[in-house]
Amino acid sequence: MSEVQPQFEIKSAGQLRADVTLTNLLGLDRAGLEAFFIANGDKKFRATQVMKWIHQLGVTDFQQMNNLSKELRNKLSEISCIQNLQVAEDQISTDGTRKWLLELPDGNHIEAVFIPENDRGTLCVSSQVGCALDCSFCSTGRQGFNRNLTTAEIISQVWLAAHLLEEEKKPDRKITNVVMMGMGEPLLNFDNVVRAVRIMMDDFAYGLSKRRVTVSTAGVVPAMDRLGDTLDMRLAVSLHAGNDELRNELVPVNKKYPLEELMAACRRFIDKQNSRSRITFEYVLLDGVNDKPEHARELIKLLKGIPTLMNLIPFNPFEGSGYTTSSKQAVSRFSEILHNAGMTTVVRKTRGDDIDAACGQLAGKIEDKSRRHRRFVEPRFGME
Ligand code: SAH
Repeated sequence: MSEVQPQFEIKSAGQLRADVTLTNLLGLDRAGLEAFFIANGDKKFRATQVMKWIHQLGVTDFQQMNNLSKELRNKLSEISCIQNLQVAEDQISTDGTRKWLLELPDGNHIEAVFIPENDRGTLCVSSQVGCALDCSFCSTGRQGFNRNLTTAEIISQVWLAAHLLEEEKKPDRKITNVVMMGMGEPLLNFDNVVRAVRIMMDDFAYGLSKRRVTVSTAGVVPAMDRLGDTLDMRLAVSLHAGNDELRNELVPVNKKYPLEELMAACRRFIDKQNSRSRITFEYVLLDGVNDKPEHARELIKLLKGIPTLMNLIPFNPFEGSGYTTSSKQAVSRFSEILHNAGMTTVVRKTRGDDIDAACGQLAGKIEDKSRRHRRFVEPRFGME
């Protein structure tokens, strides 16, 4: 297929189709595609051919897949589709960060963000429409929860970003890493996230190595165990507090899975495979709330024996959050205490804040369906 030029038809790919009975091939991983072809009386190897066309060459029109017979191309057009999300907004920050607001067929919107750095380009991908976990400092949580994204809707973020970046025709605008740190809790959309990660790592699709795909969780313990049994990729855990009292307040899912259980799950995860050198812990620094030296010392005790990469995230403010960002001095003091205890610690740079693309600022536009049956939430600030 080397003679074939990539074709990136963003406009036609964005068209929404009314016919929901067609199988969207964008959302099938290799095993799913193989099953699809076998079920339709064709050969298993069609799966890798079609994966290449879709994900590597950006082709969404079956008629252009010229290593498939005319008959098969026609049949695929009848029974399946390759349907992407619609790009509703496309913004580039002064620092090169690019954010897309993407419209789903049901009218909801999600966001995906590309963050270029010296040696890599990271795509931050959403897994749900809104989020049910309601972490107190996260604007996505404030939107409430609507629904899980399908595998196709998760992968479409990667497809669109890859091909829209390609159109920029600039060096260093390539996706080298994917982090599931956009809107939603990936482990509460387990099966679709796992399938999407498989497509990201498949050599016939995006070919990302297991060290370059990160799934981030607020700490859904049983799903962490399942993930460890299912996939080999990097795990990030959003910690934000080293004691249960404070964590219950900041990350309400902690009431269900408290720190002792969470840390035990982290240890089990590490033990499952040697190649998983360490877990990334994310810690949003909130002024006067969790950024004091005693909080840092608590973390050192808590994480003892767990190979850790500590990612300190200065809080990104949003309207009505009720929190402020820690001072520079507080951030460096906190980071120094961890560092001196031998913990690998990085302070995450705020990127794309001029276009509201920074961590925790992804709001999308969603219709909240969760208010009636939220499980972990207590009213705060008299807002609800
Ligand atoms: N639900 C998953 C993934 C989405 S959140 C999780 O909790 O890990 C991705 C990261 O952004 C989390 O570490 C989250 O705590 C952080 N974050 C959320 N709101 C933020 C804010 N306002 N400022 C900085 N980081 C924030």
